[in-house]
Amino acid sequence: MNLVNKGTAYWQELDRQHHWHPFTDTQALNAKGARVITRSKGVYLWDSEGNRILDGMAGLWCVNLGYGRRELVDAATQQMLELPYYNNFFQTTTVPSTELAAAIAQVTPAGLDRVFFANSGSEAIDTAIRMVRTFWAVEGKPSKTWIISRKNSYHGSTIGGTSVGGQGAQRAQGGPILPDVALVDQPFWYGEGDGMTPEEFGLERARQIEDKILELGADKVAAVFGEPIQGAGGVIIPPSTYWPEVMRICRKYDVLLMADEVICGFGRTGNWFGSQTFGMEPDLMTMAKGLSSGYLPISAVAVGRRVGDSLIAKAGEFCHGFTYSGHPAAAAVALRNIEILKAEGIIDRVREDIGPYFQERLATLSGHPLVGKVEGMGLIAGISLVDSKSPKKFFEAPGKVGQICRDHCFNNGLVMRAVGARMVLAPPLVITRGEVDELVALAGKALDLTA
Ligand code: PLP
Repeated sequence: MNLVNKGTAYWQELDRQHHWHPFTDTQALNAKGARVITRSKGVYLWDSEGNRILDGMAGLWCVNLGYGRRELVDAATQQMLELPYYNNFFQTTTVPSTELAAAIAQVTPAGLDRVFFANSGSEAIDTAIRMVRTFWAVEGKPSKTWIISRKNSYHGSTIGGTSVGGQGAQRAQGGPILPDVALVDQPFWYGEGDGMTPEEFGLERARQIEDKILELGADKVAAVFGEPIQGAGGVIIPPSTYWPEVMRICRKYDVLLMADEVICGFGRTGNWFGSQTFGMEPDLMTMAKGLSSGYLPISAVAVGRRVGDSLIAKAGEFCHGFTYSGHPAAAAVALRNIEILKAEGIIDRVREDIGPYFQERLATLSGHPLVGKVEGMGLIAGISLVDSKSPKKFFEAPGKVGQICRDHCFNNGLVMRAVGARMVLAPPLVITRGEVDELVALAGKALDLTA
């Protein structure tokens, strides 16, 4: 690691001059310099100054098996020595991608057994957009093009992902986005459901989807896109009534349901997929991140029989794909990742042991004067910071408060992300009870410093 020995200032200066960071205000970053992350193990990261940081976000919701898993490295190495690359276009396949497709089909809900590979969550979303629209075209209903999604949702940064996402600032940049996308309100009861029980609110927000379908005409609507739990939107956990009602509505009007499992997939909520946790029966599912625990980039769309059979029978060639669709090394890592999740019973542990423990310990922060509500499931959680608890009053500049809290966390050895004034957590699934205790203590300290 003698490159690291050049010192923090060296890397920060090189970074300032050449590295344009995603989702970053470059001027603000350059004024202070990026923190240089140099190594990792388990749930911990270290920076170039030797400080240890507990990663409460599993990278970007992806390092589900934690850092430093030798087996994943070995899977990549072995595959790269044998066959580092070959494509899955033009009448060929590769063993890891075929094996991975079968392994994904085995853990997805029944029927979702055809798998199309891409490299990122955004590409998977673009793939799903093209699939649902092409499906209706080959079914003789080409006017069914509209996609209904939710405000404040995040589905990626390609034009397709930006278009079906509900992030205002993102949608506003870069010129026209895709047409035929409609946004409805998110099912965020604590933030927006005053005067209603969570159950009533869940139904009300689901029925906005019905109203939108009726407004556009069912013959114009292709699909509803949604994450089981909106992650990057602030860990928005829907009331229990929401998804069953959305499903009923989709069926009534013959609209497809596309579950974006990029964050919820591979154990985050205590089941293989968030769809299973919420009783959703999607027609398609996108997945990425936890598919390979982030060790190499890979994503996929799992497609149900109705859409898959029709497209394969009637569309002829689906003119879509990426050079690295089903990249052998990434596929080998993902395959090993799935094997480890199974062999070590990691998802059962999230559901039955460490998830409940994490939620129970996090709930102890509810008494803090800044904390309006702690909500979570499995190993994902959102903490709403409020100006006043009773009567409930949100901050006028929520982004500022969230950033202050986030920075106190980061400066004191914890990654906790801020979405406005909602603090979010999604630690590696392998976190231990002792590490959960440490995480909660560090979060409590940051809240004290923020208050
Ligand atoms: N969908 C969801 C739900 C996500 O959270 C993300 C990324 O955070 C994406 C899609 C986009 O994934 P990627 O960043 O891999 O393109």
